Amino acid sequence: MATDKTPRRISSAHLSPHFTEGIASLFRAMPKAELHVHLDGAVEVGTAADLLSTGTVAGEAAPGAGAVADLLSEAKAAGEAASDAETAAGVLSENIVLYEALRRRMVIGGVLSSQEELLSYYELPVALLQSEYALRRVTEEMILSKAADNVKYCEIRWAPGLHVRGGLSIEQVVKYVLSAGEDAARKTGMIVKFIVVGMRNESPETNIDMLRQAVAADANSALAAVDLAGDERENPDPMRQAAFFAEARRHGLYVTFHCGESLGGAGAHGGESLGGAGAHGGESLGGTGILRRAVDELRPDRVAHGAIAAQDEELCRMLAERGVQLDLCPTSNIQAGLYSEYKDFPLKILWDRGVPVSVSTDSPVISGKTLSEEYFELAASGQVTPYELWRINLNAIEHIFAPESIKQKLRDEFTAWAETAMPQT
Ligand SMILES: [Zn+2]
Repeated sequence: MATDKTPRRISSAHLSPHFTEGIASLFRAMPKAELHVHLDGAVEVGTAADLLSTGTVAGEAAPGAGAVADLLSEAKAAGEAASDAETAAGVLSENIVLYEALRRRMVIGGVLSSQEELLSYYELPVALLQSEYALRRVTEEMILSKAADNVKYCEIRWAPGLHVRGGLSIEQVVKYVLSAGEDAARKTGMIVKFIVVGMRNESPETNIDMLRQAVAADANSALAAVDLAGDERENPDPMRQAAFFAEARRHGLYVTFHCGESLGGAGAHGGESLGGAGAHGGESLGGTGILRRAVDELRPDRVAHGAIAAQDEELCRMLAERGVQLDLCPTSNIQAGLYSEYKDFPLKILWDRGVPVSVSTDSPVISGKTLSEEYFELAASGQVTPYELWRINLNAIEHIFAPESIKQKLRDEFTAWAETAMPQT
């Protein structure tokens, strides 16, 4: 993958330091709900270095393991070249090289060419998350980090089926993540729910099997929903997983799915058509046909991404009338090459049409943004005001995968803060 080239950087507008600091601190202080964030996109670079150097990587033959071995030998060679690796200078140099090599593979530095390239950044984190220690540690660190950014309610999603390469069972993976999550939630006072992700490239039967094992391991009903994720080019249509979603409903879980992370239609990327006529009833991935039909027939509670709905007024009406929220991640979509700049991301268009929307990071480490920074970039682009972002944040509570008692607690907490701290414009 193109990890060595220098992609175009995404930068906020050149603003006065006074404005920048004021808005940034407002968003940091704002109590927030984050509804679309992946565990494997939240592995800190330092944690990855630690997991690598302490040998807690499992699954030698697994995808990603080759890259892990390459990294270790690259770092060792650099350390030895700098000095004798046994000396303090050699060890330090080795560590710095390892950290930098990991950062390049785990943190997107600019705009990529596709969703496929974006997904390549998950390979190393997934390869590292194959042990009880790694799963518990990363879950806890992610919640502590979110709490430090004043996220008061968070739904964390992950695909248990990706974490069994080192010999763990689905039930163990789910148990470790949920219990570490419950402990960290208690410590921080944050309310945390979990979403299990089925993979697009798996059969519905495999995803159903995963789900049944996950539910069996969920002793305290921390699992709130199912999601579907993965490469959209090969399997764009969520309808293929209708049986998986039906099984989720039988277990009383909410339903969401990823849609709209790959562009297809002519125009956006020099006319390449990823969805080609015939393969998917003539609908390209860049169009809204697949999303419209999936929303109509699968009746999801929310959709992960789906910003392309802004191209289709009829679909916007459907989403608004049915109260189907789009959990948007602007930085992630810009990095995947779907939009050029924050000002082009259609948040304001969707909000003005009455489509419920929320803003999330998708993957805070891979995207290199906290939720506060995500808000800041949108405000700095000039398309929405800080007050509109506050309203979007508050409205997202109505669509969280949690009971009314939790919604009311969050409404009370958020509005109490706003009465004293939020400019009402
Ligand atoms: Zn996502």
